[in-house]
Amino acid sequence: MKRERAEKELEITLERAEEALSARKNLMLNSVVQGSTFPDLRGKCAEIIGKMDFEVYPIGAVVPLLENYKYKDVVDIVMASVANLPPSRPRHLMGAGHPMVFALAVAMGCDLFDSAAYILYAQDDRLMMPTGTYKLKDLSEMPCSCEICNNYTPDDLKGMKKEQRIKLLAQHNLNISFAEIRKIKQAIIDGNLLELVEQRCRAHPYLLDALRNLKNYTELLEEYDPEYKNSAFFYSGPESLNRPEIFRHQKRIKRLPQKERVLLLPSFKKPYSKTIKNILTNFGREKEHNLENLGNFYKINDETENRNENDSNDSLQIAVVDVPFGIIPLEIDEVYPLAQNEAPSSMDEDSKKFVRDAIQEYIENFKEVIISEDIIKKFDLSVDLENFDINNLKLNFDDKEKIKYIADYQFGGGAGKALFYGDIHIVKSRKTGKIRHVYDKNELIATLRASDGIFVLSLCGAKRLHDHLEYPKNRVVVNSDAEPFAREGKSIFAKFVIDIDINIRANEEVLIVNENDDLLAFGKSILNSREIKDFKIGQAVKTRKGGK
Ligand SMILES: [Zn+2]
Repeated sequence: MKRERAEKELEITLERAEEALSARKNLMLNSVVQGSTFPDLRGKCAEIIGKMDFEVYPIGAVVPLLENYKYKDVVDIVMASVANLPPSRPRHLMGAGHPMVFALAVAMGCDLFDSAAYILYAQDDRLMMPTGTYKLKDLSEMPCSCEICNNYTPDDLKGMKKEQRIKLLAQHNLNISFAEIRKIKQAIIDGNLLELVEQRCRAHPYLLDALRNLKNYTELLEEYDPEYKNSAFFYSGPESLNRPEIFRHQKRIKRLPQKERVLLLPSFKKPYSKTIKNILTNFGREKEHNLENLGNFYKINDETENRNENDSNDSLQIAVVDVPFGIIPLEIDEVYPLAQNEAPSSMDEDSKKFVRDAIQEYIENFKEVIISEDIIKKFDLSVDLENFDINNLKLNFDDKEKIKYIADYQFGGGAGKALFYGDIHIVKSRKTGKIRHVYDKNELIATLRASDGIFVLSLCGAKRLHDHLEYPKNRVVVNSDAEPFAREGKSIFAKFVIDIDINIRANEEVLIVNENDDLLAFGKSILNSREIKDFKIGQAVKTRKGGK
């Protein structure tokens, strides 16, 4: 469609939306996002009808694109639409009926599908699968485990009357479609939907195009990506580098304290810090750290800057370089997903470049960079090198420093100092040796959760963070109706929230305050800030403990 016509038709859509609202009475209504293949028109349409009170927002006119495998364009259209639609209302991808696209569509924010595809494909003697389509005439085996495919052979089906065959093929197509929806729901619960999307998008080169196009929307996807998940991050190919978790880490690493020197170590078995300490003492056989166990090291010679000769070990940052997260300062190596991820040991070129860029960006802020020979070889770094005697270094592994880093990474710069002052006392797990609780004398400040390495606050910790973080950082503000319930430790419902820190994601530790910014309680966000603002029903924050 030409733009001029798309603009004209969009005007009619908007006029009719208004008309429909004035005539609705008690009817529930949907209003369709139109705008043809022009993402800006789609965005504009979504923004206007999104502010009107419709129950469901379908995204229309995508069938011709789906039929022609223009999945890449579908990504632009859907993302332009959902970015401007209210998150509390379901989005319906009209006419999307092939299970191949369900996971991608859900990852983009679509909730509903409707389609006659299951019967249309059956009438055409075709079997839909999440990985593509089979023509019955080409099959000598049934490629599925549903009851139809278990009970009939392709020859049985081919020999049947058309009417009966259509019924059975349609039943298979429905079985496989619903199975895919169930799989997607489970992936959402497990927190690995994008891994399913990556698998599905390898079924067709044009779906792979769509997946690669999704990288242009990582920032928006990150907003809706829960901070901490039950499942590990699995790298399935270069497209995994565009996942929200990696984008988030690149941003959050900037929250950490800046030191003057950095020592870059190659990756070891996770958790890195434990393995490195083992290697330094030759797996416990030596008492003293022997840095030569770590291999050869060089100093990066940067002519453009006047290096400050500084031997103070207080300002040495140790970081590990690994795929796919790039730079991992050792203090935060156990925070999700930096320890909870797996990537193949044989590296692809995209990962190599990604990590090389991450190294270049990271080392710019240091006056002195000491780097392992392994890293230079592995990532083809071309830098000017000077020999460096590793025995000149003294490595400190300070738990008090570590807890501050984790808090900064989790809550923002300076949070560590704000939380952990006084007579700090760290209690470790006897079994694993990991940090468990942090106290000021006898008062618990926070507990480090073993599964994802993040801090869960105590009342004392929440108070300290509240004192330190400026309004509205990390806060969910509730109205006076909800205040008594919040103080009792009851969960916070979205409709009582009157303001919120826009940076809050799902599964984050948050502070619950009233309009005067008095701390009422604290807990874990169930939704992200945009959703909490928009939802009128349902829980927003699971409160951990009553306030004062
Ligand atoms: Zn089947």
